[in-house]
Amino acid sequence: MNTIESVKEKMVLVCKVFQQQRLVDGYGHVTARLPDNRILSTPLMPPGKVALRDLIILDMQGNKVEGPGEPNGETPMHTSIYKARPDVQSILHYHPDELVAVSVAGVGVKVVANCGVHFYRGIPIFDSPTLIRTEALGDRVAETLGDRNAVLLRGHGGTAVADNLDNLMRLGINLVRTARIQIMAASLGPVKTHSHAEAEDLLQLERSGKAIRRFLDYYISEVLD
Ligand SMILES: [Zn+2]
Repeated sequence: MNTIESVKEKMVLVCKVFQQQRLVDGYGHVTARLPDNRILSTPLMPPGKVALRDLIILDMQGNKVEGPGEPNGETPMHTSIYKARPDVQSILHYHPDELVAVSVAGVGVKVVANCGVHFYRGIPIFDSPTLIRTEALGDRVAETLGDRNAVLLRGHGGTAVADNLDNLMRLGINLVRTARIQIMAASLGPVKTHSHAEAEDLLQLERSGKAIRRFLDYYISEVLD
C-alpha cells in the first residue's frame, strides 16, 4: 500500500531522522512524487519540525495546490529533477557542512568507505553557490545531476535523489557520512578509494534487503518514543 497518507507519514519520519542526525537545520527540504503529476513537499519551514498537517502538495510547475504553508524558494530544483528523471520518486536538498567542504575543495565525494558505495559512479558538482530559485537554474542542476543519485552545489550543499523515501533516507545519511570520513582521512595523508568492482560487489550484498532494513530500523528507532 502506498497511499498518499502513508507517503506523508514516511516523509515526516524521514525528516525527523534527518533532524536527529543534524543533517538539516532551519533549511533544507524533502519532496516525493505523487500520482497525477503532483509533488508532496515540506513547506517553507525547518524540515525537522514538520508535522503531517504542515505538508503541502505542489503541481509540476511548483505551484501549491493543497496545504497550509508556502513552497520553499528552491522548489524549482525539485520540479526540474522530477521532469528530467522519471525514475526519481523522492528528493532531499540540504546544506551539511561536510558536503559544503568537499564541494569547495573541488574533489567531490570519493568512495572511501563502505557507506559510500552508492556513489561510486561519481557525484558531480554544480559550480555555483547561487540558490536554485528559477526553472532555468533548476534545469541546470538537473542536467549536472544527470543519471547519478546525488549532486553537490559548490559552497551551498547537496541534493540526493532516490526511488523511494526509505532509500532517500539511506542516501542522505550515507552521503554526509562518506564526506565526513573522507575529510578525516585526507587530514592523515593520501586516501585510497574503492574500485568500481569493490563498490559493485558491496552493493550486490546490500541488495539482499536485510542490511537495508537493519539500517533503516536503527535510525527510525532513534526518533520513535
Ligand atoms: Zn539550498
